[in-house]
Amino acid sequence: MSEPVRVVVTGAAGQIAYSLLYMVAKGDVFGPNQPVILHLLDIPPMMGVVQGVVMELSDCALPLLRGVVPTADPDVAFKDVDAAFLVGAMPRKEGMERKDLLAANVGIFKVQGQAIERNAKRTIKVLVVGNPANTNALVCSKYAPSIPKENFTAMTRLDQNRATAHIAERLNVSCADVSKVIIWGNHSSTQFPDVRHASATVNGAKVSVSEAIKDDEYLKTQFVEKIQKRGAAVIAARKLSSAMSAAKAASDHMKDWWQGSANWVSMGVISDGSYGVPADVVFSFPVTCSDKKWTIVQGLEIDEYARGKLDITAKELIEEREEALAVCQDSNL
Ligand code: NAD
Repeated sequence: MSEPVRVVVTGAAGQIAYSLLYMVAKGDVFGPNQPVILHLLDIPPMMGVVQGVVMELSDCALPLLRGVVPTADPDVAFKDVDAAFLVGAMPRKEGMERKDLLAANVGIFKVQGQAIERNAKRTIKVLVVGNPANTNALVCSKYAPSIPKENFTAMTRLDQNRATAHIAERLNVSCADVSKVIIWGNHSSTQFPDVRHASATVNGAKVSVSEAIKDDEYLKTQFVEKIQKRGAAVIAARKLSSAMSAAKAASDHMKDWWQGSANWVSMGVISDGSYGVPADVVFSFPVTCSDKKWTIVQGLEIDEYARGKLDITAKELIEEREEALAVCQDSNL
């Protein structure tokens, strides 16, 4: 067995963390032979709840779990960590403007970026889940300048999993039989779920999803909208946002980054200008992962329809970035 890896989960008293901590502690993410020490960060009023989570983790009697560090101090939370799941964020409250929500969250991710800069290993892998995830990841990386920008990513894997499962259900095959579904852009309702390069194994034969579904109009319109609005549909039904599925997606994202991906996966990563996307936004691209690094899949055709979709979501990310950076400057946070 190797030395334990230190893994921080923020928002540790929240609902996503409640599912995610168990997945990490039982070896789903870093491997069945990799011990872990969990750092649990939340805000001071939630420390009682965090203590309950610590008790439950202990009561799970998990062989790979070698320690738990509950704290409300970001400097303690990020000390020597190898991997970070930044889940904790301010939820949108009734009557709250989008701008107010962005401002509250920019503050959180700036403070955490600074704590990462002071305390974390330079090789830290950061996955931002808390919304607005893409822009939070960008802000966080800006305040941790000695750590490569490539080490900050945002989660669009839930959208990829939703889209993959939807296609699988429609074709009556397993999710494992559907591959290369892409999410482009922002984790928001402007995202572009794209199955133009996806394939499925149906009755033993591998075919394109387009051939299998035989309804391109549906794939370009209703399907796209369904995935864009799936988060809202879950909230309407559960009166709470996606949590079990968000935790599973966070686990999938970090596992593929850490252990290597078997196929294309979608991750929000710092744009290098690929596919005509502006640089310096965290944009979801199809990537492959090996040696704990991601690489954007190159050479895919972007037709006029796709170009329009990519431009809409890129425009939103630029607006978010400008608003976020203005908040940082205005308030001297
Ligand atoms: P939750 O409200 O149940 O938990 C959030 C936790 O974060 C709370 O315990 C809160 O006290 C904590 N928190 C707030 N500020 C903090 C800070 N400064 N430091 C540490 N912890 C802090 O919410 P949840 O359902 O677990 O969701 C968490 C976030 O994930 C939300 O922003 C949600 O919108 C987002 N989300 C993202 C995706 C995605 O696909 N990217 C999917 C679902 C949810």
